[in-house]
Amino acid sequence: MSNLAPEPEFEQAYKELASTLENSSLFEKNPEYKKALEVAAIPERVIQFRVVWEDDKGQCQVNRGYRVQFNSALGPYKGGLRFHPTVNLSILKFLGFEQIFKNALTGLQMGGGKGGADFDPKGKSDNEIRKFCVAFMRELNKHIGADTDVPAGDIGVSPREIGWMFGTYRAERNRWEGVLTGKGGAWGGSLIRPEATGYGLVYYVEHMIKYASGGTQSFKDKRVAISGSGNVAQYAALKVIELGGTVVSLSDSKGCIVAPTDSKGFTPELIASIAQLKVQRKPLTDASHDFKYIEGARPWTHVGAVDVVLPSATQNEVSGEEAQALIAAGAKFIAEGSNMGCTQDAIDAFEAHRKSEKGDAIWYAPGKAANAGGVAVSGLEMAQNSARLRWSAEEVDAKLRGIMEDCFQNCLTTAKEYVAPAEGEFPSLVAGANIAGFSKVAAAM
Ligand code: GLU
Repeated sequence: MSNLAPEPEFEQAYKELASTLENSSLFEKNPEYKKALEVAAIPERVIQFRVVWEDDKGQCQVNRGYRVQFNSALGPYKGGLRFHPTVNLSILKFLGFEQIFKNALTGLQMGGGKGGADFDPKGKSDNEIRKFCVAFMRELNKHIGADTDVPAGDIGVSPREIGWMFGTYRAERNRWEGVLTGKGGAWGGSLIRPEATGYGLVYYVEHMIKYASGGTQSFKDKRVAISGSGNVAQYAALKVIELGGTVVSLSDSKGCIVAPTDSKGFTPELIASIAQLKVQRKPLTDASHDFKYIEGARPWTHVGAVDVVLPSATQNEVSGEEAQALIAAGAKFIAEGSNMGCTQDAIDAFEAHRKSEKGDAIWYAPGKAANAGGVAVSGLEMAQNSARLRWSAEEVDAKLRGIMEDCFQNCLTTAKEYVAPAEGEFPSLVAGANIAGFSKVAAAM
């Protein structure tokens, strides 16, 4: 019996990684990596602090702040800050743990970390959010730096919040340095950073489709179900539309919008109007459209016929039953824009279908590979800040495309090398991502 408090989300992420490593030939070939896994499961450092701030009524408010500095073998700790009422140590440890291997898969020199607070930006005024960000960074600044730990955004933290925190860091430390990524352009933010996670996700899936079809297919005419309506979902949807696909759903925490089967799906105009609502922290119920709004539901059992599924809201947003419904609806490619978007039951359901006699095999890509584009462009922002220069949008997009292609090829070849797929079966991208990411970190450790 462990004397530690239960950490269900972290334990889920750890087991998901450890089980694929154990079911491969990795430990046989590198016996010392078993110890490396035991060491890597414990964060190098966890910082917890209180955040005291004043609301608009002049009342004192307090929240819990955290930064999990998980692993610095490959570079400075790197990973987002999440402001959401559900934030606790288990969630930040799971996110920080995933981040280590995701960052390794970008091929850039970045360690892994994650932080945040149980602060809920919903229902707060702009002034209150700004005061919270300032109070949060007054403490966090003592523990971070461009070569130590470089946070970015995550759920509840957009470039606006990053700007308030960057200003506070500069004032507190009397230093201008690339200590945060996802900054606005005026403070050295990279072009394409807001788009990067969504675009990168679609670039990764493009390679899956191309490989699976022997180069004959693309996103053209594919029906794509997406959950979420934040940064990741919006830019993934726009890229899918640009590539000729049809986006059939988006969602928020209160419900989902589903386009009818005979419609052309979401338009860039509707997505732009949803993006405006998000800036104003308004729910999807305020969006104007002719599609069906389903209250309290996730899209998966409502989307009808579908080819590609991109969960892009939050963790554990696809259950085993929903995975079965998606399989029945014809889903062939599932890739996570969110971190740990699928439950283990859902992953097991998809992974069981990698082989098919009738050409109806299913292929699943975990978030640590498929959504690595966001942190990859964060890494490119760090490089630009250190070099005191700025790349064009075309340059950053080209580098992002290259990183996502390398990431896909790395997952594919690593899976083939360590878990030989059965005849006619797609290599497991879950195993490939976990083994490739972990091996790089273990070797550096
Ligand atoms: N929060 C994002 C992620 O989960 C980005 C982190 C970053 O850019 O550092 O990967």
